Amino acid sequence: TERTLSIIKPDATSRNLTGKINAKFEEAGLRIVAQKRIQLSKEQAGEFYKVHAERPFYGELCEFMASGPVVVQVLEGESAITKNREVMGATNPADADEGTIRAEFAESVGENSVHGSDAPETAAEEIAFFFSGLEIV
Ligand code: ATP
Ligand code: MG
Repeated sequence: TERTLSIIKPDATSRNLTGKINAKFEEAGLRIVAQKRIQLSKEQAGEFYKVHAERPFYGELCEFMASGPVVVQVLEGESAITKNREVMGATNPADADEGTIRAEFAESVGENSVHGSDAPETAAEEIAFFFSGLEIV
């Protein structure tokens, strides 16, 4: 089994979609083994997304991620990283397959409801960014 870091973004928490999104994860066989609702500062969002620092949308992305509460969570399961990205759908909701979280809930390519780690190395780094080992059960 594998673990991945998931974030339910401010556009989704503000629309009260946490439960519906969690249902999609659980229906796909992903187990929520850690979860907390937090408010990121712009600086913390910038640190989390620093790989995108040179991208034109970086400032907008950091502002958005700090614009309201997020739910950070660790998902566990067989091929959790790939499975989670399948359940999320494409970054741009216009390209996301039917039934995916982004197809159903995302508002735009920026305000796209969820984040998921993209590889084992980034998953380990991103999980450690938010959680201590004792918080993951
Ligand atoms: P995430 O990393 O959030 O799971 P992703 O891996 O599908 O999403 P990335 O390319 O890593 O997409 O981009 C990170 C985030 O930056 C996207 O989820 C989205 O919120 C934002 N983003 C990406 N492309 C754009 C864009 N063209 N305009 C505005 N925001 C964007
Ligand atoms: Mg990404």
